[in-house]
Amino acid sequence: MHDHSQTHLDPRAPLVLDTRDLPRRPGAMRTVERAVPASADLGLELIGVRQGAAIHLDLRLESVSEGVLVSGTVTGPVEGECGRCLRPVADTLVIDIQELYAYAHSTTDETTDEDEVGRMQGDLINLEPVLRDAVVLALPNHPLCRQDCPGLCPDCGVPWDDLPVDHSHQQLDPRWSALSQLTRPAE
Ligand SMILES: [Zn+2]
Ligand SMILES: [Zn+2]
Repeated sequence: MHDHSQTHLDPRAPLVLDTRDLPRRPGAMRTVERAVPASADLGLELIGVRQGAAIHLDLRLESVSEGVLVSGTVTGPVEGECGRCLRPVADTLVIDIQELYAYAHSTTDETTDEDEVGRMQGDLINLEPVLRDAVVLALPNHPLCRQDCPGLCPDCGVPWDDLPVDHSHQQLDPRWSALSQLTRPAE
């Protein structure tokens, strides 16, 4: 029986793991260490891994009865902008991953929903979807340059951090003046 629903994997693709030299005996182990270039759209609107940036994989492949357990650490540089002041934010993302890839026709076929478990294609494992999910989950939805970033002056749009402490705007209407006092962060 062949599964025609899956696309053919390229064993030389950076995020495809080849398990040919991993014995299919529970307990057998192999490590994979490599740097791979980040694919496009690896991130969210405000922050992510720049395309082509080096992502370091430090993984352990372990034979278990129903397939191969992939675990380890993925490290990569993230760049983005602060959601409050729009200045650049740079950080290093370190993600622990652990994912079971079942043999193509293991007994988990009968006991597990199709989508619940990763599936090997022959000897190959496609790490790409898991890596993408892990990176996106690990990224902050609201990246900040620092937790107490005061954001931008609502009147001139300049980051408060770049303005003198006594920065203010002439207010013609006293109602707006009162409002700006309310929105001004405490010093
Ligand atoms: Zn900021
Ligand atoms: Zn201002």
